Amino acid sequence: MLIFDIIKSNNLARVGVIHTPHGDIETPAFVGAATRATVKALTMEQMRMLGSQAILANTYHLILAPGADLVQEAGGLAEFSSWHGPTFTDSGGFQIFSLPDVKISENGAKFKSHIDGRKFEMTPESSMQDQWKIGADIHMAFDQLAKSEKYGDMKEAMERTHRWLDRCVDEHHRLASSAERMQYLFAIVQGGDFLDLRAESAKYCAGKDVDGFGIGGVFTADGMDKMLQTVCPILPEDKPRHLLGMGQEPIDLFVGAENGCDTFDCVGPTRMARNGSLYTLDGRINIKNARFKHDFTPLMPECDCECCKNYNRAYLHHLFKTDEITAKVLASIHNEHFVTKTVANIREHLLAGTFQEYKKSFLGRYYPNS
Ligand SMILES: [Zn+2]
Repeated sequence: MLIFDIIKSNNLARVGVIHTPHGDIETPAFVGAATRATVKALTMEQMRMLGSQAILANTYHLILAPGADLVQEAGGLAEFSSWHGPTFTDSGGFQIFSLPDVKISENGAKFKSHIDGRKFEMTPESSMQDQWKIGADIHMAFDQLAKSEKYGDMKEAMERTHRWLDRCVDEHHRLASSAERMQYLFAIVQGGDFLDLRAESAKYCAGKDVDGFGIGGVFTADGMDKMLQTVCPILPEDKPRHLLGMGQEPIDLFVGAENGCDTFDCVGPTRMARNGSLYTLDGRINIKNARFKHDFTPLMPECDCECCKNYNRAYLHHLFKTDEITAKVLASIHNEHFVTKTVANIREHLLAGTFQEYKKSFLGRYYPNS
């Protein structure tokens, strides 16, 4: 069983430590999105320097290239990527069910590679096998994304996800019985924005022999607090909870942590960085805007990342306007640091008992008009 120590809890929020075979994760924590075993535009050294504790790769992308066998041959994801720290893999379900010509049956999903058209079939069993080969510390169960946001489609996807979870758990334990190093399985709680489905899914997942939970599927940020207030009290308190794909907007990190989520991942911060959309404590700015052409101040004076400590806004503006690769690197360092540090600050304020004051002052400044 994955060991998760809770140091402090207050209502649904908690501060803890997840002990993985590749090291500890102090939670709440933001997990870097390393979809193809790399965080776009950043080296693993830069990830360590900006304070990242863990990365999350995507099984769908890794089985297409370089293949799960090759990652296994390298000794697993942490060794292959030279990250060496705690790792997660998402099952790839979200990406596969977003493909245009995916064929879904009770057995699994048939799809073609978006790279070269090769045919693949992913089943709950094959997803577990591939994730064991990729060798992340924490795996996500294979889930089905709903066809639409309608109640019937959400219910159907949730029920199939539950049946697939049973198969994932069986296959995971079969693989674990002969493994040299332990790897751990999280169930996925589905149900969209429908609180009755979320409650049903949380109850189902809570009853399974899994190490933690991914809160996934499709849902709207506006209803996230109520959704988490429905799901988290049902889940066993002593197992970690990962909020899948949320964290582009800082408010989601506050709402997630306050309502019982321990880890977060999101491709948004680095994707926005590559487009020049950069976080500051006064909201996001587009550094390509002409008003930054002569602005020789740091991007965010309060930030101690490599970008803000060493470079100014006019220089970043110039790098983006001339399409220099360094623009994307510096911007990604800052945005990834910003979300990682924000969650680390949330942890400190939860420990100090000053979370509500921090939340009010941060969000009041970041979203002045709301
Ligand atoms: Zn910075």
